[in-house]
Amino acid sequence: MKVIVATTAGFCRGVRDALEVTLEAIQKRTGDETIYTYGPLIHNRQVLAMLEEKGIREENDFSKFAGNKVVIRAHGIPPEDRQKLLQAGATILNATCKRVARVHAVIKRHARNGYHTVIVGDADHAEVIGLLGYADGLGTVINRPEQVDNLPADWNKVLLVAQTTQNEEVFEKICERFLKRYPGAVVNNTICGSTHERQAEVRQMCSSVDAMVIVGGHHSGNTLRLAEVARECSIPTYHVETEADLNQNEMARYSVVGISAGASTPNWIIRNVVQFLETVQTQPSGLRHKVKRILELLAFGNCYIALGAALLPMVVQALTGLEASLSNCGMAAFYAFAMHSLNIYLDRNAIQMNDPGRAAFYHQWRSAFTWVSAGAVGASLLLAMDEGVLTFLGLLILVLLGVSYAVPVILPQWSDNLSVLKIKDIPTSKTFSVPVAWATVTVLLPFLSHLGQSFLSLLYAFWIVFLIVLVRTILLDLLAVHGDRLVGKETLVVLVGEKKTSLFVIGTLVLLTVSLVAGAAGGLSSSFSYLMLPAVLIYAWDLGKCLQSRLKEYPIFEALIEAVVIGMGVMALMWNYAVGGP
Ligand code: SF4
Repeated sequence: MKVIVATTAGFCRGVRDALEVTLEAIQKRTGDETIYTYGPLIHNRQVLAMLEEKGIREENDFSKFAGNKVVIRAHGIPPEDRQKLLQAGATILNATCKRVARVHAVIKRHARNGYHTVIVGDADHAEVIGLLGYADGLGTVINRPEQVDNLPADWNKVLLVAQTTQNEEVFEKICERFLKRYPGAVVNNTICGSTHERQAEVRQMCSSVDAMVIVGGHHSGNTLRLAEVARECSIPTYHVETEADLNQNEMARYSVVGISAGASTPNWIIRNVVQFLETVQTQPSGLRHKVKRILELLAFGNCYIALGAALLPMVVQALTGLEASLSNCGMAAFYAFAMHSLNIYLDRNAIQMNDPGRAAFYHQWRSAFTWVSAGAVGASLLLAMDEGVLTFLGLLILVLLGVSYAVPVILPQWSDNLSVLKIKDIPTSKTFSVPVAWATVTVLLPFLSHLGQSFLSLLYAFWIVFLIVLVRTILLDLLAVHGDRLVGKETLVVLVGEKKTSLFVIGTLVLLTVSLVAGAAGGLSSSFSYLMLPAVLIYAWDLGKCLQSRLKEYPIFEALIEAVVIGMGVMALMWNYAVGGP
């Protein structure tokens, strides 16, 4: 693999100076003198661990500082905290970065003249907390352009500054909107030169590499921003703390990888990542690679989902003998495609963590997905209308439930004593709502008019489809558990863990086997039920593979899981044809 390292990667001037101040203090230490840093010196766990070994203690409790040296980190602190440190009897070693100190001075000068200060940054970041301290109580923090519209319109004297490590493009957008709202505002782009160069180089690199690896602390604001810049370029982006966070098989997909790093990432960590990537053998672009890529693109485009949903009414026909029309198949396919595409938007954080390649694909095709999904919703509703008013209303309710899945259904002011605000906040909601929706759109809605005379057969088909889609959904959740866990998504596996979920899948497969045999033997369905039994074995095999090799061959496993529903659908087509179906 070819690895290109950004020339701007690694410590910035401010971080280098802060480390020098601290290391010098260690050298000059007398006896068992303790040296503290007020908060973490930099956002890098490995460097902090190294400093701790040298006897540097991170502390926020002022009572501990009496008679000791305290390093103020590069991010700076509010003036009140400096006062408190002095009152506590600390000897201050000021390592505030000069560029941050300059912003302090700008805010202080304007605050004295009655200006409101608007800071573009992260409200909980140490640097921003420090900047706010200089605004004399007249400071506000925003980080999205639309927040400008919520600022009071009657402010006459307004200053706009940025956290020194802000995303430049975001700042520019905010600036444009800000000047429209406050034409007389003072705007000071305080993003530091080091941040500017780093982001510009990442943007430039993205055009010549297959993927970007951004190295730095998961809590480091400037590293997060670098990863954001790379993702905006629609390129697979991996934010890692060390090489241990990278997966060799996954990285083997790429021929050329670019590396950049946050301002607090030491060179030795960057070097380790480079060495690791240089040992990765890029997969030859042979047949296997091409097949994998095609499987990947089909999964990214929700093609398996649409095809599986389209074929399920055929399975229902094979089980019950009731005829499924092409329109039924189309309605199910369009609905499933649209709702899963919507889910991509809702799950984007988890997708980014589970599969950056997929996240980059969706970022690149976002507007196409939005339009095609809107078209698919319209098409499914039109086909439902053709089936009758009840089918149309049923599908409309399903669509509305899907769309409102992540929207608060209980107003925040009523929610003091309620933990559930959105449907997605209901524990395991995703795991069970998907199979219910699929069974409704492939069994209930297409065959509504037969409900009177074939109620039990349809109830049976609903149950079988529900169980099949339930196992499929849980297996896919098992593949995605890492990302889901980090973003707190409510799936069964996140709630109860992988072991209990595996037992639940095995129990469901036993139930499916019993239901298939009992249905055919008891006359509730045709003997097609027996032909579905191999699906149970394939799902059991998929479960074993998911647990052993998760994340290694994600697109292949996903295809194997989806292949079960599609395979059953194809068999049902042949069965229906053989018994004189469509
Ligand atoms: S990123 Fe810029 S402002 Fe922040 S510490 Fe480094 S040099 Fe200073």
